[in-house]
Amino acid sequence: MPIFKDKHYFRVNLEREPDENLWMTCKACGELVFKQRVRESDNICPHCGEYFFLTAKERIESLIDERSFVDISQPIVAEDPLSFVDSKPYPQRIEEAQEATGLAGAIIIGSAVISSIPVVLGVMDFRFIGGSMGSVMGEQICHGMEEAIGRRSPFVLVSSSGGARIQEGIFSLLQMAKTAAVRGRLAAERLPFISVMTYPTSGGVQASIASLGDVIIAERGAMIGFAGRRVIQNTIAEELPKDYQTDLFALEHGLIDRVVKREDLRAELGNVLGFFVEGR
Ligand SMILES: [Zn+2]
Repeated sequence: MPIFKDKHYFRVNLEREPDENLWMTCKACGELVFKQRVRESDNICPHCGEYFFLTAKERIESLIDERSFVDISQPIVAEDPLSFVDSKPYPQRIEEAQEATGLAGAIIIGSAVISSIPVVLGVMDFRFIGGSMGSVMGEQICHGMEEAIGRRSPFVLVSSSGGARIQEGIFSLLQMAKTAAVRGRLAAERLPFISVMTYPTSGGVQASIASLGDVIIAERGAMIGFAGRRVIQNTIAEELPKDYQTDLFALEHGLIDRVVKREDLRAELGNVLGFFVEGR
């Protein structure tokens, strides 16, 4: 059974639609803030420092050298191998997500330049069915790593995901092994893979490709874990630590290498990439 079809695919550019609302209210501090100012500061509240949600496009913009991004994603969209229906049929869920996000799938793969270093970049968008990894995302990530091998450039993956996409069942779980295998090829080619975990990085994504970086950076405030807190608590019938699955908990327990503020992420990526590239 084919898992992909290539019609309906649309490429991403970073042009922004004009926004009618000039002002927004910060949910954390209640202040009315000027949207333009928020955008120019990586979607951080100028009053209280709260991080607002970033779409994949906004995330890309916040990390790369200006105008360096080219969408090189595979022209594929998800099939419905299980004819899956929950509250609505899976194909309808995909179509609605496409309409709401303007994206073909839950990840964008592109070539870009970060601190003057050419990279291949994959960025997930949580708005698209929770950034879940189905057969398309798995294939896109592998495609990105293969492109990185072809270009002899580092691979950077920015995760924002609830985990494997339930609607594709075993096809989704398979992506954990598939992405891990292609990641092995990247290592054999001695090309660096930098994984950036953002809020949230969980489930099958955290348990596979996102945790396989040579360096794993978490954005401050990232939630990092496999199963949900309640599920684990009910399973083991024990109270979990208060800071369980926070960025600092993950750092303390060796799951990640560092926690970086959003406003420092671009510079930090530049530093880490520079270390690998100049050392070669
Ligand atoms: Zn605020």
